[in-house]
Amino acid sequence: MFGNQIAGNISAKGKKTFQSFDPKNNCPNTSYFFVATEEEIDLALTQSSNSFYSFCSGSPAERAFLLEQIVEQLIELKSEISQAYCKESGLSLSRFDTEFKRTVDQLLLFASYLENSKVDFISETSANQESSLPHLVKKKIPLGPVLVFGASNFPLAYSTIGGDTVSAFAAGCPVVVKAHPFHPETSFLVGKAIKSAIDNTNFPQGIFSQLFDDHFDVGQKLALDNRIKAIGFTGSYTGGKALFDLANSRQIPIPVFAEMGSINPVFIFPESLKNQSEFWAQHFAKSISNDAGQFCTKPGLFFIPNTENGKIFISILKNKLVQEPSFTMLHPTIYNRYEIKKEQLRNLSNGEFIEKKGSLSQLEGRQGLLTIDKDEFLQIELLKEEIFGPFAILCFYDSHDELLTYTKELQGQLTSTIIATQEEIINNEYVIFNIKQLAGRIIFNGVPTGVRVCESMQHGGPFPASTDARFTAVGTDSMLRFMRPIVYQDNC
Ligand code: NAP
Repeated sequence: MFGNQIAGNISAKGKKTFQSFDPKNNCPNTSYFFVATEEEIDLALTQSSNSFYSFCSGSPAERAFLLEQIVEQLIELKSEISQAYCKESGLSLSRFDTEFKRTVDQLLLFASYLENSKVDFISETSANQESSLPHLVKKKIPLGPVLVFGASNFPLAYSTIGGDTVSAFAAGCPVVVKAHPFHPETSFLVGKAIKSAIDNTNFPQGIFSQLFDDHFDVGQKLALDNRIKAIGFTGSYTGGKALFDLANSRQIPIPVFAEMGSINPVFIFPESLKNQSEFWAQHFAKSISNDAGQFCTKPGLFFIPNTENGKIFISILKNKLVQEPSFTMLHPTIYNRYEIKKEQLRNLSNGEFIEKKGSLSQLEGRQGLLTIDKDEFLQIELLKEEIFGPFAILCFYDSHDELLTYTKELQGQLTSTIIATQEEIINNEYVIFNIKQLAGRIIFNGVPTGVRVCESMQHGGPFPASTDARFTAVGTDSMLRFMRPIVYQDNC
C-alpha cells in the first residue's frame, strides 16, 4: 500500500484506494494507493506554506544543490523507477532511458543556471541626487507554493519532477504535486528521491508534498485553497481549462500555466517537395507514429499543395505510416478516446480514411490518415482539434489565398511547421506572418516532435495551446512563471 507523501512523511489516513493499470498486459497493477483525505490535503498545504520563508531565503546556489541532490537520488532509484514506469505506461525501456536522461539533464540545466546567472535580478537605476530621484533595484521574488499536475504521457519529464516542479523549486517555491493516477508508483518513487534529496540540504521537508487521487476532488480542493499561489498543469484542454476557470473563480485568483493539446499544423510549400517527397514522408511517418503519437507536439494536420509532388508525398506517407511499428497506448481510456475520435471523423467526413491493417495487440494504437478537401476543413470543427494518437489529417490547397484562409481558421498551437525553400519563405511573407501568429514555436524544415530543454526554448502558445502564451513550460525561462517583479526604492 502506498500513502500520500506529506513533508517527508508517508500518510495513509483515508479509506479510498485505487490501482494503476498495466496497458501492455491489459490488467490492473497490484499496488494500492490511498486517495488523500481533507486532513492530509490541509497538512500538505500548511507545511508547504510554512516552509516558504526558509526555502526562498536560501541562496540560488543552495537551490542548485537541491536539484543536484535530486539527480543523485533519482540515479540511486533508477532501476526501481524504470520497472514502475514501464508497467504503468506501456512505454518501452528505451523510451524510459530517453525520458530519464531528459529529466536528469533538465535538473542539471537549472542547477547550472542557478549557479551562473543572476536569477533574481532584473535591473538597477542609480539615484540622481541633483533631481532627488531615488535609487531603484528591480528584482524577482518567488510567488509561494505551486500546485503541479503531472501529465499521463511523460511520467517523468512532465510529472512529479518534471519541468513545472523543477522550475518552481529553482524559483524558490515549495511544490505540492497532485500525482497523475496513471502512474502513481512511478510518481511515488520519484517523490521518495525528492525526500532523500531534501534530507541532504538545509531546507525543510515541507517544500515538497505529493498527494494521490484517481479523480478530480483532491486537485480541485488544492486549486481552490488560498495557500496555493500558482498552478502548473500539463494535460488535456478539458482539464487545463477546468482548473483555469476554478483558479479564476477564487476570491483571490491565481495564475494557471496550463499546457494543453495542440494539432501542430504543418504547411508544406510546393517547391520543397521537388525530389524530397520521400524524405519528408519518411520523417513525418515517424513523427506521427512514434510512441503511438502520444506527444503534445505530434503533427496532426498537414496542408499539402494540390500538385503532382503533393500527391506523391501523400501516397508515400500512407505507405510509410502503415509500415511503422504500432505502440501500446498509455491507458484504456486514452485508447478508447482515440478510437472514438477516429470513428467520429470517419462518419463526419467524405474524405479518404486509411488505417494500418492486420491484427495488433490489445491497446496498440493503429496508425491512420484522413485526406479531406477545403470545404470540409472549413465546415467541420472536429478537424481542427487534437487527436491524441498516431493519426493525422491531410488537406490539399490550390492557391496561396487558400493557404492564408487556413491559417486564419486555426486556433493557438504549441508548434507550426513550415516545409519550404528559402525562396518560398521570402516570397510568402504574409502567409508566414500568419503562421507565426498561431504558435509558440515555428519549425523550419523539420518535424515538431522533440522539445529541446534549453534557455532558448518556448513551449507554450496562444490559447488553447496554453493559458498564457507569454510564458514557456520548458527551458530555464519557465521559472518566470513562478516569480513576480518587485522594486526596492532607496531615497537616501
Ligand atoms: P488530463 O486528463 O487533463 O489529466 C492531467 C491531470 O489533470 C490529471 O492529474 C487529472 O487528474 C487532472 N485533471 C484533469 N481534469 C481535471 C479537472 N477537471 N479537475 C481537476 N483535475 C483535473 O490529461 P492527460 O490524459 O494526462 O494527457 C493527455 C493530454 O495532455 C493530451 O491532450 C496531450 O496533448 C496533452 N499534453 C500536453 C502537453 C503540453 O506540453 N502542452 C504535454 C503532454 C501532454 P485525474 O486523472 O485524477 O482526473
